[in-house]
Amino acid sequence: MNRPILVMYFKICGFLGAWTRSKRPQSPLNDADWPANLAIGGGLHYEGHTPGGDSRSLTSERLSMARRKKIYEGKAKTLYEGPEPGTIVQYFKDDATAFNAEKHDIIEGKGVLNNILSEFFMLGLGQIGVPTHFLKRLNMREQLVRSCEIVPLEIIVRNYAAGTLSKRLGIDEGTQLPRPIVEYCYKDDALGDPLVSEEHIAAFGWASQQDMDDILSLALRVNDFLSGVFLAVGIRLVDFKIEIGRVYEGDFQRLVVADEISPDSCRLWDIKTGEKLDKDVFRRDLGSLTDAYSEVARRLGVMPNNPPTPGKPTLVN
Ligand code: 5GP
Repeated sequence: MNRPILVMYFKICGFLGAWTRSKRPQSPLNDADWPANLAIGGGLHYEGHTPGGDSRSLTSERLSMARRKKIYEGKAKTLYEGPEPGTIVQYFKDDATAFNAEKHDIIEGKGVLNNILSEFFMLGLGQIGVPTHFLKRLNMREQLVRSCEIVPLEIIVRNYAAGTLSKRLGIDEGTQLPRPIVEYCYKDDALGDPLVSEEHIAAFGWASQQDMDDILSLALRVNDFLSGVFLAVGIRLVDFKIEIGRVYEGDFQRLVVADEISPDSCRLWDIKTGEKLDKDVFRRDLGSLTDAYSEVARRLGVMPNNPPTPGKPTLVN
């Protein structure tokens, strides 16, 4: 390439880099806190996915990660004690489960995509003033979050009929609901997370009336935000599930959006074709889950540079 063409090439690269950075919600913490190859402005490099994070050689950081204390292992995530009191490291696994873990596969790269997508949504919510537990992404599989007490409820918001609502009420999947419907399920795997009413929640003391008012308001704000973000990239937000945590600040408690927001916990349909881009692809054997989640990440502009290669799922049981 001759010199003027090279100069032009670098100018275009510089412009595109600046434009992409301007489109991404920024971490509340300084970019300088990030490892060089993971800084937001430096591009997202997917370089493998070993437990503990990116592909750096076995550094003292990795060794200390290996020694840290596991707090909880769930179906899709593992929680470790964070570096500061009141913080937790949330590690996204490649495990995909459905039907209360009766169906279980390892989907290579799913954890990486969910980590990046959840970061994107939590940062966006923070920018519009919706409090979340998210502090910063640490590497391709882990994020630092505020430790909180999870309200034992799954909060489900539905815009279109699908899944258990369609089954329960005999409404065709895809029917637009007259308004967003918010449902509550009691978080208990052994019971299959049963649907509960506000009467149950009050009677059993899972949340106060004030909490429930705040939870409803948070759920609807999250719905407005996510519906708009997805609509802008040609995706219909059919429904989703969030979890809410209590953060204590002195004598006061604050409710924050916790856990994760990702295609694992949303139903996402392409607006034009109706193609499913969420965990139903796995639940209903509709194709490659990695392809579906990658498509969501690509449209939102958060696809890692070297995306996870869809490997053959490993059947675990
Ligand atoms: P449904 O009640 O129709 O099965 O689910 C409604 C919405 O909540 C769907 O977007 C579904 O992905 C999400 N959802 C319900 N339960 C769970 C759960 O236990 N884990 C996750 N990740 N999402 C859930």
